[in-house]
Amino acid sequence: MTKINYTNAAIYNHDKQDFETNHYVVVDTETGKIVNTGEGKPDGSVQFDETVDMKGKYVMPGIMNAHTHITSIPTYWWNDGKEDRHSDSREFNTMYAIRNMEDAINNGITYIRNVGAAYDIDIEVKKMQQKGMIKGPKVMTSGRAFTMTGGHGAGSGHEVDGVDEMIKGVRTAMKKGVDNIKLMVTGGVLKNGETPDDIQFNEDEVRAAVVEAHHKGKTVAAHVQGAEGVKEAARAGVDTVEHAFNIDDETIKIFKEHGTAVVPTMNAMYAIYKYGKDTVPEWARHKVVVNIKKHFASITKAAAAGIPIAMGTDAGTPYNGFESESAYEMQLYVEKASMTPAQAIDSATINCARAMHVDDEYGEIATGKYADFIAMDENPIDDISVIQREKDVYQNGVNVHRAIVDVNTGAGVTSEMEAVGR
Ligand SMILES: [Zn+2]
Repeated sequence: MTKINYTNAAIYNHDKQDFETNHYVVVDTETGKIVNTGEGKPDGSVQFDETVDMKGKYVMPGIMNAHTHITSIPTYWWNDGKEDRHSDSREFNTMYAIRNMEDAINNGITYIRNVGAAYDIDIEVKKMQQKGMIKGPKVMTSGRAFTMTGGHGAGSGHEVDGVDEMIKGVRTAMKKGVDNIKLMVTGGVLKNGETPDDIQFNEDEVRAAVVEAHHKGKTVAAHVQGAEGVKEAARAGVDTVEHAFNIDDETIKIFKEHGTAVVPTMNAMYAIYKYGKDTVPEWARHKVVVNIKKHFASITKAAAAGIPIAMGTDAGTPYNGFESESAYEMQLYVEKASMTPAQAIDSATINCARAMHVDDEYGEIATGKYADFIAMDENPIDDISVIQREKDVYQNGVNVHRAIVDVNTGAGVTSEMEAVGR
């Protein structure tokens, strides 16, 4: 058992909406938890075996991403006539997942909620991560997403129709060990022949899933894009609304009544908009082009109304992977949704923890919480983009990734994806 005192750090405090300099955090590497934290030095009653000088670095909780697809890779969708270069097999999907897990942790993402995995692969990947067999963030699983027959994500999801099939399906998923239920309530972008406004599951089907999940203390995430679908899902009591292209005053009222959180996934849209011309199929890019302004206005409105925003990227969609994109999503909240840098940090930490119902152990640097955090040379409150740069990553109190430092300038380099200009 080792207790480490990480001292001389500027630690993010969400109540203050700022970093507090000259703080320490003592961690127990056996339990993985924070045993004490405060200003200056711990008093004599706090035991520890070694001290690590953090040299004034900016330390915030590890990034949480509430919307990922670890079995997907961002190059799967390329419209370049080379469709056969990726396989849909269980083996390939598992390999992508393991690769994505490693990218995520090396980029400071310490907890993901996976909301749809081919072959229920996230359930096994979670176990591998817990046993230390693979490197990666902690995983909240959903297994395969639920969709109506022929609906959004039908290729790799569970197709169910009607209340009875939904109940049976949700109970079966929970028997397999999922932590969360993912429902495709409307059409979406990356499937041809449907639109974001199409209602797919009806309200009775959604409510049936919510009742079953909540009876077992599990959460429900709903893929919903068009206005009516968002309202339907929120009325039926889902915990998080994903994407949400069209939030209006009535929607805000429903969210407030039900305590719904919003997971924006703005980079899923922005990356296709910015980089997808001639590579992403035109039928998909067209839906992005006609909806992106509405989407960003919708998230801006929700954030301004005080609706909890939980950061999620939809990692796995085109040009949207598991490296610096989560931190870039935070920059989009500042630049395109009028959030402050502190609010953007909260979206990826405390708000995610609350939306995922794990805020008793995650989301802030406080005694009793897991010691998952990242350390940066510069202050993200002054410039939110610094989170995208190389950083030191700690999981369960142990350093698991060191920032790669430029040998010439001594500065932390930006991660690979940024460096190649994607
Ligand atoms: Zn998704």
